[in-house]
Amino acid sequence: MSEIEARIRVHVGDITRLAVDAIVNAANTSLLGGGGVDGAIHRAAGPELLAECQSLNGCKVGDAKLTKGYRLPARYVIHTVGPVWQGGGKGEAELLASCYRRSLELAAGKDCRTVAFPAISTGVYRYPKDQATQIAVGTVSAFVSHNAVPETVIFCCFDQQTADLYQQALLRNGGSA
Ligand code: ADP
Repeated sequence: MSEIEARIRVHVGDITRLAVDAIVNAANTSLLGGGGVDGAIHRAAGPELLAECQSLNGCKVGDAKLTKGYRLPARYVIHTVGPVWQGGGKGEAELLASCYRRSLELAAGKDCRTVAFPAISTGVYRYPKDQATQIAVGTVSAFVSHNAVPETVIFCCFDQQTADLYQQALLRNGGSA
């Protein structure tokens, strides 16, 4: 296993349960909460999270903003806004890659050693899972290979099927290493 591969893990479970330095939220541009992983994070973090989010003036698609984790076991939440899938011709791939990069930059700025990502845009935003997984793995691998922090990145998948996609993408990505 290469050094880069050793720094990227796949986990099956609920991201709100992870005691890591930062978890990433697949938020919407309002940052005021929503369904899916966003709703789960706000429920677990408590009302103080919404109060901090209300002071942030929203977030652009492809960008990210950081808050405290409040009642979560994670110290920080990095809220990023993935693109809504519109067929692939509206810059979705670049915007999704930007979500991963910006989140990692914010995590590095707070010296986070371990960061966990959900599968951004693959729920209500309908991004095809195989393509989203390729972008997630490619972007995170590139970042990790150029930066010492975060040391470890976890892809937190809600189900085993998604985790299998990540494992396959990681194997392909590191296949020549
Ligand atoms: P988006 O609006 O960016 O598509 P969603 O929250 O609808 O965001 O879905 C993103 C992904 O997060 C989906 O693959 C969904 O299965 C997953 N997900 C939902 N809840 C959780 C959770 N508590 N922990 C980890 N992943 C979750």
